[in-house]
Amino acid sequence: MYSLAVIPGDGVGKEVMKEALKVIDAMNERESIAFDYDIFDWNSDYYLAYGRMMPEDGLEILKNYDAILFGAIGDSRVPDQVSIWELIMPIRKTFKQYVNIRPVKLLDGLAGPLKSDRNIDFVILRENTEGEYSDVGGTMFTGENRELAVQNNIMTKQGITQISEYAFNYARSHDFQKVTNATKSNAIIHVMKFWDTVVEEVAEKHPDIDYEKYYIDALAAYFVQRPESFDVVVASNLFGDILSDLGSAIVGGLGMAPSGNINPEKEFPSMFEPVHGSAPDIAGKGIANPLAQIWSVALMLDHLGRKDLHDQLVAAMESLLQEKQTLTPDIGGAATTEEVGSALIAKL
Ligand code: ATP
Ligand code: MG
Repeated sequence: MYSLAVIPGDGVGKEVMKEALKVIDAMNERESIAFDYDIFDWNSDYYLAYGRMMPEDGLEILKNYDAILFGAIGDSRVPDQVSIWELIMPIRKTFKQYVNIRPVKLLDGLAGPLKSDRNIDFVILRENTEGEYSDVGGTMFTGENRELAVQNNIMTKQGITQISEYAFNYARSHDFQKVTNATKSNAIIHVMKFWDTVVEEVAEKHPDIDYEKYYIDALAAYFVQRPESFDVVVASNLFGDILSDLGSAIVGGLGMAPSGNINPEKEFPSMFEPVHGSAPDIAGKGIANPLAQIWSVALMLDHLGRKDLHDQLVAAMESLLQEKQTLTPDIGGAATTEEVGSALIAKL
């Protein structure tokens, strides 16, 4: 029995979460796994009513769950900083979710924007808690027309070691051959050289997995030119962020992009969410693609040790895509969110 905290959030987050919960209910009914879930309405309406994104003891409450399933957050009535910095970031940081996982897999049946005969199937593992996105820095006034700003990029040996260890172990447990290091140590000569040194120390401890290193600019081009040649890509916070969006673009867009924020030690719950936001332009129309959210459920199952159920769910999505009958408009169909959810359960 697994306990699951569900935060649907705003906009299409609520719509796609409904379908994800239908999938979980179907799995419960089939007795392939037992989930006990609680739904939390911590979203922008909650903020407007109570002046905060979650209750004061919100993190204490979440701590006791095996995993968190998150929809999307964002509302024009609430500043982005509030929704991100008062809900998502505290969860990521407090629960030491230092790995952000983004599969880049072109599912069978789906045509991506690149040559469609390609077998694109790799994973980006992004360092999620340090690096370029640090708040250390500031702006200075040192004289008229001499203002300047500094922002420090702080990487720790522990931080680099643990994301690298995860990458090599992930490659091994998921039948991948190779880890690719996304770097820029030719230009960011202090921090990225340190990053390379530590990643390579870890690589030496895993001689059964191949290792290669590319500068981020070249690597971005290779994602388009030969995406089939990658297995596991390990990247810093900023590089991973950019590569992830590029990655989702080559495999069908935001409606097909799942993610996980992982605490590998399982000391705290990990959180799984689609990459997309609350999509205010289509919210309420019932046409959001629920597959990114459902795929996020699959990532959760894998993390909880049920790779068999992950594979079943992905196979059901592929079967649905191959059939091409019940797809949302973003991937060329005319079906509703609800119809896709139900069709997927039938496949399952
Ligand atoms: P946020 O700041 O919350 O990330 P955003 O505007 O940057 O919001 P999204 O909300 O993800 O990004 O929307 C970007 C575009 O992708 C929109 O045109 C939206 O309609 C589309 N989109 C996002 N999610 C889906 C989905 N599940 N199905 C179909 N289209 C989607
Ligand atoms: Mg966005």
